[in-house]
Amino acid sequence: MKVLLAVPPGIEKLELYKVLGLRAPPLGLAWIAAVLEQGGHDVKIVDSPTLGLDMASFMNEVKTWHPDVVGLTAMTPTIYKAYDAVKAIKEYDADLPVIMGGPHSTFMYEESLGSGVDVVVRGEGELTTLELINAIERNGLDPAALKKVEGIAFMDGGKPVMTRDRPIVRNLDDLPPPARHLLPMDRYTLFGKPIRIIHAMASRGCPYGCSFCSTSYFWGRMIRYRSAKNVVDELEDAMARYKTNVIAFTDDEFTLGRKFVNEFLREIDERGLDISFSCGSRVDTIDKEMMLALQRRGCSALYFGVESGSQESINRIGKRITLDRAVKVFQWAKEVKISHVGSFVVGFPWETVDDMKNTVKFAIKLKPTYAQFTVATPYPGTPLYAEAEGEGLIEDRNWEHYTTLTAVMRGYRFTKEQAQKALQWAYIRYYARLGFLLSEMLHGRLSTIVTAIRNALVPWFNEQLLHREPPQ
Ligand code: SF4
Repeated sequence: MKVLLAVPPGIEKLELYKVLGLRAPPLGLAWIAAVLEQGGHDVKIVDSPTLGLDMASFMNEVKTWHPDVVGLTAMTPTIYKAYDAVKAIKEYDADLPVIMGGPHSTFMYEESLGSGVDVVVRGEGELTTLELINAIERNGLDPAALKKVEGIAFMDGGKPVMTRDRPIVRNLDDLPPPARHLLPMDRYTLFGKPIRIIHAMASRGCPYGCSFCSTSYFWGRMIRYRSAKNVVDELEDAMARYKTNVIAFTDDEFTLGRKFVNEFLREIDERGLDISFSCGSRVDTIDKEMMLALQRRGCSALYFGVESGSQESINRIGKRITLDRAVKVFQWAKEVKISHVGSFVVGFPWETVDDMKNTVKFAIKLKPTYAQFTVATPYPGTPLYAEAEGEGLIEDRNWEHYTTLTAVMRGYRFTKEQAQKALQWAYIRYYARLGFLLSEMLHGRLSTIVTAIRNALVPWFNEQLLHREPPQ
């Protein structure tokens, strides 16, 4: 079968994509493509925003390549663009099967099916997509055949049908490496500048199930690590192919598996690899010793989700870390001289405006190299969504606004507008500090960060510079 897998066109204009000028490869599609190729199918990936394709050029790709199936991926804020693509494909050829995957479709499969999608791939996509494509090859979209495929949803006689959940891939080493050869590897950017980076993922799943995060609900609560050998084999091959040693691990919690981290570092040592990498961590799964070991093997940046300056909020979201530990770990990062990003969320439903201000003050106390602030966003599939929906807190149902930079819900004690204002104030308060600006100037990074902040806070940045009062 000829299978065209695509990121829909038009999403580069969304706020989400303007932030940090970031264009990252669709690793999930590349992994599915690899499994389909291994299964004997002919696959093409069209990463529309990275290639700068509008809908007409995207449809041109579809018309000239003549796929037997088109597969689209989307997240919540990009879902309408994916539905636009479905409409365009169906107008061109109503019989061309269109399938869709990703977290939004997984949890809102009825909505996706209502947009004209023939089949939704729910959850982990590789094995389900392969089995689905094989089923379509043999029987088209015959409902009786589709019912045998685990992990999908489709319409049968005007009614949505959800098949049994597919068990997770227990041994991730069984999957082939992502098909990077199908991606425009030279076109990815950071801060709007082209950069050759190998994005990689060493694990899937998370045991914590924080109420605002979909990771545990999409990938499962059991964290699964690939073997260190399998990961480093992939990196070595990709580094040689794409002539770069810069690696970004997209795992949420890379350091959660100490055994994996030790083996990974040993592999790097034994192979004498010179790499520069960044990864996500938790303040309770790293110590100074591990930090030093990571730094010596090329770790240049660590990303920590601290989330809040209120221990009560941290407890309520289920993060299971302490503020004291965060203070200690951020101090170690400074001593070890490793760049560290702290991520903070304002606007959990139970918070007050003062709680949000305290979160910003806590960020300033921790003084990470960079602080990322977002506003609590009720993504479908998460407990936060269930609470916000159940309590009638959601005020904005336009999925394009679900970027974590736009407030879409009110709290029990704050309005949607107050949450929005708190987010803007957080950025101004953190980044307009004299000490921060001087340090950036000394490191020659000022223009980069100013561009990033400006992009992140369009269109309210200028207004806020004129009105720097704290949120009320
Ligand atoms: S925020 Fe981090 S710790 Fe919490 S569920 Fe998501 S990935 Fe896991």
